[in-house]
Amino acid sequence: SARPRTALNECVKVIVRCRPLSDREQKEGYDEVVKVWPERGAVQVYNPKGQDKLFTYDAAYDCTADTQTIYDEMVRPLVASVLDGFNGCVFAYGQTGTGKTHTMEGTTEHEGIIPRAFRHIWAHIENSASPDVTHLVACSYVELYLEDVRDLLAKDGKKLTIRGQELNGFYIPEMTSVVCKSAAEMVRVMRAGNRNRAAGRTDMNEHSSRSHAVFLVTVETAHRATNRIRVGKLNLVDLAGSERQRKTGASADRLREAARINQALSSLGNVISALAENSPHVPYRDSKLTRILQDSLGGNSKTIMIANIGPASYNYDETITTLRYAHRAKAI
Ligand code: ADP
Ligand code: MG
Repeated sequence: SARPRTALNECVKVIVRCRPLSDREQKEGYDEVVKVWPERGAVQVYNPKGQDKLFTYDAAYDCTADTQTIYDEMVRPLVASVLDGFNGCVFAYGQTGTGKTHTMEGTTEHEGIIPRAFRHIWAHIENSASPDVTHLVACSYVELYLEDVRDLLAKDGKKLTIRGQELNGFYIPEMTSVVCKSAAEMVRVMRAGNRNRAAGRTDMNEHSSRSHAVFLVTVETAHRATNRIRVGKLNLVDLAGSERQRKTGASADRLREAARINQALSSLGNVISALAENSPHVPYRDSKLTRILQDSLGGNSKTIMIANIGPASYNYDETITTLRYAHRAKAI
């Protein structure tokens, strides 16, 4: 692109992960239209109607890359800086079915970024154990659906109010915070939140494709000798699906909902691209998501946006849309 070159902010990383063809896609004989060049951080998309498209990012991972590799190469330094008292955000972006939850939460066989971060935090705490240092780890878990923020760790999943303003920061006074003593306990907290998220839903997939899940870990380190306390916050975010709603067949309510979700995702993209370009104005106020994450986006905070895509030809348009979004968030 012909954008003027300014020094890019090294605290913002945008990466792409392409999942494998699913069994169903293989059975139905779909062609793969995505080629990843990991050593160049590039993604090439075959265009049946014209020229191939090529995009470049901080890193690009194909279906042979596991979450362990992505964690070690990209996420580990971010969590390490949280342990040093800085803030950080990891986002999974992409259309429904491309691997956001696989990447963030994973399964017992394929552990995602969230449980890996828990184990990383506790390995650090155990390694730095000394009579002079004490740690406090607390978790919160909220869901954003349109204008509602729900507390997934409160029994009734009650609605929360965001207070404050841009100048002094936003905060959620009534958000539940659960102190944890191990990585296993943090996983249990996450699962309890997920059950709360699913409660009363007939179709959890549909619901999770329309809402954002934000898992917040706060790590406090107190040094007895100096009386100093360092606080780092880690936000782990499984975003709403980025797919465009088809106009035909969708109700007016559904179209309005989809427009709001797209607007929130594009406002997040605007914030990340403003940070990546060191722009003096970062539009945090434009969405609830960026408001509640304001203190973890920008300043000394680190941000990683993981754009998830699928390789099949029928996803061509959505894949290009995701790659453009990620590229706009940070053009290399
Ligand atoms: P999303 O949360 O974006 O809707 P999911 O994480 O639920 O997508 O992934 C959809 C399906 O694809 C799941 O069955 C998941 O296990 C599988 N999947 C996603 N990414 C990968 C991957 N990198 N390797 C293997 N399977 C994957
Ligand atoms: Mg999901």
